Amino acid sequence: MRLRNKPWAREKLDAHPQYVVLNPEQEKGQWNKTFNNDQPIHIEVGTGKGQFVTGMARQNPHINYIGVELYESVIVTALDRLIEADLPNLKLLNVDGAELMNYFEKGEVDRVYLNFSDPWPKTRHAKRRLTYKSFLSLYESLMPDGGEVHFKTDNQGLFEYSLKSFSEYGMLLTFVSLDLHNSGFEGNVMTEYEEKFSAKGQRIYRSEAKFQP
Ligand code: SAM
Repeated sequence: MRLRNKPWAREKLDAHPQYVVLNPEQEKGQWNKTFNNDQPIHIEVGTGKGQFVTGMARQNPHINYIGVELYESVIVTALDRLIEADLPNLKLLNVDGAELMNYFEKGEVDRVYLNFSDPWPKTRHAKRRLTYKSFLSLYESLMPDGGEVHFKTDNQGLFEYSLKSFSEYGMLLTFVSLDLHNSGFEGNVMTEYEEKFSAKGQRIYRSEAKFQP
């Protein structure tokens, strides 16, 4: 992701507390109050400019979504989308996905989406991959038994690594596609990266993995 300096982004995020959760540590344990209902909560870690999470929230009004993105200069575009769509079941969180334990109690998150996560191809950077075992342990600590991680990427190396990581962690792989767009899978919501890479003819990999008690 190319980062552009947007000095005004912080101010814009702060001006929209109905969409951007500004003090997420205060929501820990009470996200149902934040959303004003008891719907399940699905989060996307590394939400980028928000096309996927906005599309999912529009498609599934009975589920609450939270888009988590590290960079304010990127998430501010997701905010623009959300302002336009005005969806009550979507919030944005400008935090590091590695610190989610500070913002959610065990069982508050029902599903984690990872889409086109940075591949960190060098072995010495493996710990930074969002499917590394310490991240899986973190996601598990937020979810009830049976919580799921849904993952899409164009990167074959990261996909192979991640399937191994899910499996070695003891997760159950319930869906694997090596060519999502030619698999007959219905209801796919494309991310920005997915549109870009599939337009270039690259195939898209997708998996679903479930934590087991
Ligand atoms: N998911 C989007 C898509 O598919 O179009 C964006 C993909 S982009 C390659 C990866 C995004 O993950 C970037 O916006 C990056 O800033 C974000 N990211 C990486 N590590 C993160 C972390 N630890 N916490 C939150 N966001 C992170």
